[in-house]
Amino acid sequence: MIKELHNKLETKQISTVELARQYLAQIDKLDPRVRAYLKVTSDLALKQASMIDKKIASGEEVSVLAGIPAAVKDIIATAGVTTTAASRILENYVPPFDATVIKQLKAKDFVMLGKTNLDEFAHGASTENSSFWPTHNPWDLERVPGGSSGGSAAAVSAGMAAYALGTDTGGSIRQPASFCGIVGFKPTYGRCSRYGLLAMTSSTDVPGFFTSSVEDAAIVLAALAGVDPRDATTLPVSVPDYLKAVRDPKIKGLRIGLPQEYFIPGMDREVEQAVRKAITDLERQGAVVKEVSLPYSKYGVAVYYVVTPSEVSSNLGRYDGIRYGLSYHDQADNLFDVYQKTRGAGFGPEAKRRIMIGTFALSSGYYDAYYKKAQQVRSLIIRDFEHVFAEVDVLMVPTSPGAAFKIGEKANDPLAMYLEDVFLVPASLAGLPAISIPCGFTSKKLPIGMQIIGPQLGEEKILEAAAFYEGLTDWHKTKPPIS
Ligand code: GLN
Repeated sequence: MIKELHNKLETKQISTVELARQYLAQIDKLDPRVRAYLKVTSDLALKQASMIDKKIASGEEVSVLAGIPAAVKDIIATAGVTTTAASRILENYVPPFDATVIKQLKAKDFVMLGKTNLDEFAHGASTENSSFWPTHNPWDLERVPGGSSGGSAAAVSAGMAAYALGTDTGGSIRQPASFCGIVGFKPTYGRCSRYGLLAMTSSTDVPGFFTSSVEDAAIVLAALAGVDPRDATTLPVSVPDYLKAVRDPKIKGLRIGLPQEYFIPGMDREVEQAVRKAITDLERQGAVVKEVSLPYSKYGVAVYYVVTPSEVSSNLGRYDGIRYGLSYHDQADNLFDVYQKTRGAGFGPEAKRRIMIGTFALSSGYYDAYYKKAQQVRSLIIRDFEHVFAEVDVLMVPTSPGAAFKIGEKANDPLAMYLEDVFLVPASLAGLPAISIPCGFTSKKLPIGMQIIGPQLGEEKILEAAAFYEGLTDWHKTKPPIS
């Protein structure tokens, strides 16, 4: 889709301003029901668009992303535009700087339509933890779009953005992509810069994106991949030509691993069937399918929910009522009182829960039993992946054990919500790249997603396999009823 839009802009079938207006009109029409956007930046979008029109008119060569309207998860810092992380504590926070991913897109002349809803500080799997409102799934408005990047996923799914940025710490791009029937891409940890992402779990946070095709994912990845002096964890390795991987994808001889631990009793039968059928279809086309085992994956959720709260308890420590956002400093008697009042009012229940669990796991006396043990098991999970990637090229598994659930269904049960992450967190703990692509629908007409996980820096392999599968099917062409 991005290439088609680019051609239309280049050949002047449509102007950038007209294109931005079309997307803004779609937002006006649908977002009162979907509620994907926390803020629509219409004026900014039209200003950016008219500048790009001038460039095109003057014959200047522009990038393939120039003028393509995009949405940005509201946990990514945007200079001059509020960045709230869907938290009361940052309700009025306007960053003085752009995240690196925003700088990179600006260098390609992108048009920003607005900032999208999420679970507060990206803690969650449904957007119900947003301090403002839940986002609705465009396929069924009574259901969640997934989370935490649910607003970005819903926006792309409902045609309210051509693509959207998100972040994935433990599944927050892949799971909403699967619930909303679109493509979601999580790069290798260190492939793209985290600078300007409001930190959740620094050891697994990565920026990523939602698109409506695998080719679009390759285009956006090409714009964002690379080393950044502002993020010491970015990898100093060259960026391959990702578009080449999707241009003429091959599947013959690709070794696909099927980890038995990802097909568990209790998962939705329709989801399991759809994913198994997708893999069989690829086998028929010449892929080699092999059963493999990741025995430590079963501890993934347990490890993640020690590591993540520990890092969260440290990262959220900066919201102290003094340096950023909401502050009760003028109504407090002493420093402790400032903290207590500001955080008491500013953080929602899930952020508080994670701060408490993390503080406990890191406290002296418990550190060895929880945090250190979790990191040791994390090493075993990483080793499991290293072993299987010596035998296979990619892993293919369900993205989530079920399709989109109803709003309210799991909201009061944190453990049920955490279990949503069972197929997602192992790749996050190991820093591996993964994509979620549409692979079918349930009998209720809800999208099903298949996840393809690759080895470190295996982006080209997963893009190629995903592009090949996409070429066999029409799932990604089906649009939600609302649009
Ligand atoms: N659902 C996971 C959590 O609540 C993942 C969140 C994320 O990737 N940001 O932590």
